[in-house]
This record gives sequence, structure tokens and C-alpha cells, in this order.
Amino acid sequence: MELHLQTLTELAAGLERGDFTSVELTESLLQRIAAHNDKLNAFVTITGDEALAAAARADEARASGSGGALNGLPIIHKDIFCTRGIKTTCGSKMLDNFISPYDATVVEELADAGAVVLGKSNMDEFAMGSSNETSFFGPVHNPWDLECSPGGSSGGSSASVAARFAPAATGTDTGGSIRQPASLTGTVGLKPTYGRVSRYGMIAFASSLDQAGVITRSSEDAACLLGVMAGFDERDSTSIDQPVPDYLASIGDSIKGLRVGIVRQHFDKGLDEQCGARVKDAIAVLESLGATTVEVDLPNLDLSVPTYYVVAPAECSSNLSRFDGVRFGHRAENPEDLLDLYCRSRGEGFGDEVKRRIMTGAYVLSAGYYDAYYLKAQRVRQLIADDFKHAFANVDVIAGPTTPTPAFKLGDKVDDPITMYLNDIYTIGANLAGLPAMSVPCGFVNDLPVGLHLVGAHFAEETILRCGHQYQQQTDWHTACPEAFK
Ligand code: GLN
Repeated sequence: MELHLQTLTELAAGLERGDFTSVELTESLLQRIAAHNDKLNAFVTITGDEALAAAARADEARASGSGGALNGLPIIHKDIFCTRGIKTTCGSKMLDNFISPYDATVVEELADAGAVVLGKSNMDEFAMGSSNETSFFGPVHNPWDLECSPGGSSGGSSASVAARFAPAATGTDTGGSIRQPASLTGTVGLKPTYGRVSRYGMIAFASSLDQAGVITRSSEDAACLLGVMAGFDERDSTSIDQPVPDYLASIGDSIKGLRVGIVRQHFDKGLDEQCGARVKDAIAVLESLGATTVEVDLPNLDLSVPTYYVVAPAECSSNLSRFDGVRFGHRAENPEDLLDLYCRSRGEGFGDEVKRRIMTGAYVLSAGYYDAYYLKAQRVRQLIADDFKHAFANVDVIAGPTTPTPAFKLGDKVDDPITMYLNDIYTIGANLAGLPAMSVPCGFVNDLPVGLHLVGAHFAEETILRCGHQYQQQTDWHTACPEAFK
């Protein structure tokens, strides 16, 4: 099989057998990127020279019998992860000139394992968005239909993996930004349990919700990468000190007897009928593998979007206050005084969606409204987390749709924030409750991919990965490649 069509696991085996070198692999993917990226705009930065140097080092390491678990394997980083010596923009004009003096923990871990970084992927500005249209660097296009969005905010990562630029890319998920783009591009997207993967060096949007994860084409590859990325980091105060299991060890185990929760509210209003049908077909496949379905209730599900849009902006208004034109980032020219410097630097550096969130956040945190909005949202957040807790008393996994519709056209929702926000109706709950969740390709509607959403209990990544893997053993949706990128 041609190199670009292979998964991370297949490429690892090829490197190990000596079928090709990491330099050859890296060169061939860089050529694909050079030939096709104009159609997608998936990158903010392509790191060709650094990638080839890293690939050469990986080949040397292999020749001398050393090298980590990902030795010589190409990946892409979302441009939200700080990379030493390489521009990290977070999709914003504010950081267009920012060169980080250090690596994020995730970047460090993957590099230590031998991964070769091909570039930094385009994303919604500060990860705020569901379509990649809020990026300062312009929208990313969906490889399945160039007029459609690849989802967001990790749209450059999802488009790259779908277009076979790389077998895997990192992403971050605050309300759905790994799973929603994975669903819309026919890729696998895994958001781990909050605290499982370090947030150090990952530019903060909403700290109590942000979590790093991966976009791949198989659950097996996601398991492999999670094994490298997961673990305690003393530099992240919310990192959890729990042993990291071998996610690959149990991935081949049967799901016979697995209790799969079907949420009553998921198939109500708002879900595209054909998407719902594909998801139901996928659940039938799980049943055919011996899983049993149990109906569960998430009575506060419809409160998750409004709750998120109080909590996330509140945290973002606090996190983004550091971009003041003084220490780093964009600085306005010729300020009259300090206030003018702050105002114009922020006014010029941030885009509309980011400003909207900062203003909403400052409002809900203000003295007169704190109790009415922020505190109320925190209470509802607890109710939503409790709903999941009750559900997981009776089931091992919750299965449903990742998104209400397949990919939508670029431009269709960008001027209507509420419709855009509703895209994350099925994904946000897992962030509010801190649960691990993933999207797995489960079919097509009008030639556009659809995803199956699997949510697990805290630290039950093994269970959802096994469920995803067993499903992918029975289906081949994830091997479909968009026509223009074969
Ligand atoms: N689409 C959601 C938002 O706009 C989620 C973004 C994310 O997960 N980073 O905030």
C-alpha cells in the first residue's frame, strides 16, 4: 500500500522491517503537502527542514538499535501547542510573531518517542469555533468537499489526517474541538479524561475544560499515541497522578457483554435523520459483537450548551488577559499611553469571536452578575456531571451521534453564533463532566462522513478505545479516502 494511505501502526511495522526509511516517508508526505495544501489551507507553518533532520536522526537511532515507540513516524501539531524555536500562533494575529522558548509537555513527549513533526496545523483563533473560520490565517477546507468546513477548532489537524498528509495529528478539545472535526472529516478523534494528558505549554482557552488528544484514522493509532502522551506532569497543577495503562494491551479484547448506553434525548429533535440512521446502524454493529444496549437518561443535556457558553467565556476572559501587548504577542504601534497600548494591542490582535467571548466572560464574572450567571452555570455543570455519573452506574460506554449534521458549507453559520454553538450539543457534556470520549467514522450522508460518539467513565479510555477498535475491525469507513487526495 502507498505510504500515505497507511496508518501509524502500519508505517511503524514498515519502518521496522526496513521497507523504507523515515527520511523517505517524510519526504513523500512533505511532497504531498506541497502539492495539495493550497486546496485545504491546513497549515500555519510547515516544518520541512526540521522534519527531515528529525527523520534522519530517527533512521540513525534505528540503525543503532535505539529509538522510542514512535521512532521516525510523522505527525502534525495543532498550532496551540508551544514548540521551541518554531512559531506558535494559536490561529491568532495576536501571536503571529510568537516564538515559544519552550516545548509543551505533549510536544516533548512525542519528540522523545521519536515522532517527526511535519508542521503546525491551522485552527480556530484560540480554539474558539466549530468551523475553522475564526482563524486569522483563513478557513481550512474539508477534503471531502472543499466548499465545506472540516470542523473546528482542530480543523487543520482533521483535514490533514483525512487528506493523508500524516497518519496522526494532535488536537485540543474544550467543548468538542477534537471529536467534531473528526466526525466531519471521517477520522478518529480522542479526547482523554480531564487531567490525563498534560496541559503545560498548551495555550489556555478554558482551563477547566481544555484537554489535549489526537486525531488519527484508527482507534489503534489513537491508543498508541495516548500511551505516549498520558501521564502525570508536575508542571500542570490539574494533571492527575495515576498509572498509565497499556492501551494497546486490551484493545483486541472482545466487547461481548459490554453495556452500551443509548441516551433517550440524543435522538430527539435537532439530529439529522440520516445521521441518526448511520449511528443506529453502528450501534447495531456493536450489538452484533455481543454488546447489550441500555437506555439511559441525561435529563440536563439541553442545558450543556448554555452552561458551556457561560463557563468557557468566563475562563477565556481571564486566560486571555495576559495578551496585553507588553510581554509578548502583538503590540500596537506608537501608543499614546499605557491604556492606549492595551486597548489598541488587544483591539487589533483579537478577532471578532474572541472579542465576543471575552466580553461575555467579563460580563458573567462581573460583580452584579456573578451569582446569576457564573455561579448558576457552575451548579448546572455539577448536575450534568451527576447525570453522567448516574448513567455510568448502569453502562460502560455511552454511544450516540458526535454531531447533529454532516459537514456544513463554509460561510453558512459563521454569522450566526448560536447555530454554530449548537454543533457541539453532543460533545460538550463530556468536557463539562471531564469524561473521556471519542468519535469514530460510521458512514456517510450525501458523500460526507458521519461519526459515532463513544463516551466513557473517568479514566475508562481503554474501554472506549476497545469499543472503537472492535467496531473498526467490522467496518471500513475509516479507510475511505477523499477522491481528490487518493
Ligand atoms: N466549538 C466550541 C467553541 O467554540 C468548542 C471549541 C473547543 O473545543 N476548543 O468553544
